[in-house]
Amino acid sequence: VGLAQVFFSLNFREKRATLLIFILYTITIITAGLLNPFLTVPPEMTPSVNISLFVVNLLWISGFAFVFILSFISQNIKLEHMETERIKELDDAKTRLYTNIAHEFRTPLTIITGMTDLMRNDPGNWLNQGTDKIDRNAGILLTLVNQMLDLSKLESEAMSVRMIRSDINPYIRSVIELFRSAAASLKITLNYLPSKKDLVVDYDPDKLMQIISNLISNALKFTQSGGVIEVKTALTDNGFFEIRVSDNGTGIPESHLPFIFDRFYRVEINDERVSTGSGLGLALTKELVKLLDGTIAVESLFGEGTEFTVTLPVTESAGLQEGPGLHEIKRKIAGYIVHPVRREQRSQPARHDHHEKPMLLIVEDNDDVIMYLMTFLGKDYDVIVAVNGEEGMTKALEQVPDIILSDIMMPVMDGLEMLERIKNDLRTSHIPIVLLTAKADIASRLKGLDRGADAYIAKPFGREELQVHLKALIAQRKRLQERYAVIGQLVLTKEKDFQFEDSFMHKVRDIMIANMSDESFDIQRLCSGMAMSRTQVYRKFRSLTDKTITEYLRSLRLHTAKELLIRSNITVAAAAYKTGFKNVSHFSRAFTQEFGINPSSVIRLPLTGHYGMLSKMIGTQRKTDTAHFL
Ligand code: ATP
Ligand code: MG
Repeated sequence: VGLAQVFFSLNFREKRATLLIFILYTITIITAGLLNPFLTVPPEMTPSVNISLFVVNLLWISGFAFVFILSFISQNIKLEHMETERIKELDDAKTRLYTNIAHEFRTPLTIITGMTDLMRNDPGNWLNQGTDKIDRNAGILLTLVNQMLDLSKLESEAMSVRMIRSDINPYIRSVIELFRSAAASLKITLNYLPSKKDLVVDYDPDKLMQIISNLISNALKFTQSGGVIEVKTALTDNGFFEIRVSDNGTGIPESHLPFIFDRFYRVEINDERVSTGSGLGLALTKELVKLLDGTIAVESLFGEGTEFTVTLPVTESAGLQEGPGLHEIKRKIAGYIVHPVRREQRSQPARHDHHEKPMLLIVEDNDDVIMYLMTFLGKDYDVIVAVNGEEGMTKALEQVPDIILSDIMMPVMDGLEMLERIKNDLRTSHIPIVLLTAKADIASRLKGLDRGADAYIAKPFGREELQVHLKALIAQRKRLQERYAVIGQLVLTKEKDFQFEDSFMHKVRDIMIANMSDESFDIQRLCSGMAMSRTQVYRKFRSLTDKTITEYLRSLRLHTAKELLIRSNITVAAAAYKTGFKNVSHFSRAFTQEFGINPSSVIRLPLTGHYGMLSKMIGTQRKTDTAHFL
C-alpha cells in the first residue's frame, strides 16, 4: 500500500512530496522489520489469508507501476516528436531567413556588378551615374551588414553608449530631412512636430539616428502614396521624453503584433505589402532602445495605421556639445532610405503590330535593376515594365509580349505566382518566362508548380548570359511555329508544353471552320468567339504560327476548297461559294497562287491528304465538334 502511494504521488509532479512519501514508506518498512520479533500475528491471519493478501497487494501495485511506466514512455515519445517538429520549424525559419538575406544582398550586388560592366564598356557615358549607383548600393549592403553585426554586438552586451548633450529637436529634424525626397517621390507626406520647448538632454546620436531611421523607413515601406507620416517629440510628466512615429498605412494585424520585434520576423500576408526586408529593423531598434534604458511600444490597427512610441529617460549629465553634422548622418543613413519605384519615369514605347523587335516585359520592383536591364536590352527588344507580379500579369494580358523577364521576390504578387497564372491562362500560356532568382529560394516552392519557368538566372547575373538566354527562348518559338503553321491535321499530344497551345489552335480552327462559308467572317468575330481581345488573339496567333490570322484563314479556305473539288462533284463556283469566296475569279486567282494550279484542273486530281473529313463536314453544313478529327 505504501509503495502504491509513492507511485500515485508521481502524478502530481511534486518531487518533494514523492520523496517525502517514499521516505515515510521506507521508515515504515524498516520499523516493521525491526519490530517483527515483538509483534504477534493475529490468529485470523492464517498463512493462506496472508498469501492471498500478499498476491492481491502485489498485483495492484505492479499494475499501477506498469500503467505509470507506459504513460511515461508515451509521454516521452510525444515530447520527442514535438522536439523534432520544433527543430524542423526552426530549420524552415532559417532557410527562409537565408533566402531573404541572400535576396537582400544579391539585388545590390547585381547593380554594382552591372554598373562596373557598363562603366568599363562606355566610361564616357556611365562614369558619373555608375559611381553614384555603386555608392548607393554599397551603402545599402553596408547598412545591412552593420545591422547584423550590431544585433550580435547588442546581444553580447558589447555595445557602448556615447552620450552628448544638446537640443534634440534640430538633430531629429536633420535626420528626418534625409527621408524627405524619398517620401516625396512616394507621394507620402512626412511631418515633423517637435516639442514646444527645447529638449536639451543627453542622447546618443548614433543610436537615436538608427532608431528613428528604422521607424521612418518602415512607415515609408508600409504606407501607400497619398499617406501621411508624422514624427513627434514631447516631454512627458514623469521625466521621460518620447518620440512617436505614426503612419496611416497598412497597419499590422493584431495576431502579428507581439512578434514584430522578434529578429527576422516579417508579417507575411498576401496583400499589398512590400516583400523586401530582412526583419532585422525592429529587433535592432528594440535592442537599441533597451540599451538606452528606454522602452518601445506599438499600437496598430490593421488597415488603419501604426504608431510606434519610443520613451527614453531624461538625463543631463553629459558635456554640452553640438550634434553631429549633416554629412556624417547622411553617410550612415544611406541604407535605410527606401528607393521608391518611380513609375511615371518609365518610358513605355508605342506598340505596333508589325514590329520587328520582339516585345519584352520586365517585371521587377527595383528601379536600379530595371534601369540596368534597359540599357542593354532596349536595343534588341521593345521593353515594357511592370513593378510587381500583379501589374506584370495585367500587362502580359493586355500586350501579350513575346517574352517575360521577372524577379521572384516582389510586393503584391511574387514572380512564382505570376508565373503560374500566366502559364495557366490560355491567352498567355505560350509566352516564355525567364526568372531572376536568388537561387536558394526556388527549389522548394517550385515543386507545386505544373509548368515551370523556361529559364532561371541567378542574381547577380552577367549581361551576356541573360542575352543568350533570351535569344535562345525567342528562337525556340520556331518549335511551336513548326507545329502550328501547318494548315492540315493537328495531332493531339499529352505533352504539358503543348496542351494549352493545342486547345487554343483547336478553338481558333473550330470557329474558322464553322464560319467558312461566311464571307464577312473576320478577326473581330473570331475574337468574340474566343472571348479574347483582338491584341490577345492576334499576338498569340502570330507567335504560334508566324502567320497573320488573315493569311491563315485564307489558306484554310483554299485548302478546304481544294478538298471539296477533289472529293465531291462540285463546280468551282460552288466550292468558292462554300468556302467564303463570293467572287469566282478572285477565288481562282488566289487558288492558283496558293497551289500553283488552276482550280478546275484539280477535280481530276487523285485523292490526297487529310481533308476528306473537312470537306464532308463543310458539305453537309454540320457544325459539330471538330476536335476529334483535327
Ligand atoms: P528591415 O527593417 O530589416 O529591412 P522589415 O522592415 O521587414 O525589414 P522590421 O523593421 O523588423 O523588418 O519590421 C517587422 C515587420 O513589422 C515588417 O515586416 C512589417 O510587416 C511590420 N511593420 C513594421 N513597421 C510597420 C508599419 N509602420 N506599418 C505596417 N507594418 C509594419
Ligand atoms: Mg524595417
